[in-house]
Amino acid sequence: MAERKTRRKSVKKPCPDCQVGQVSESFQVGGRRKRVSDDRQEALCLTCLGTGEATD
Ligand SMILES: [Zn+2]
Repeated sequence: MAERKTRRKSVKKPCPDCQVGQVSESFQVGGRRKRVSDDRQEALCLTCLGTGEATD
């Protein structure tokens, strides 16, 4: 039998990198000086693309 495992297309796992699809990260300003600002910005999580769910 060459049948594969049942496709589980709606398995939803929480994203390991965020909770809500966004990550709070410090951003660098100043170019060459690479000064890190105290401000943090909410950035779209690139792991889950903002869904908050891990993707394969
Ligand atoms: Zn995420």
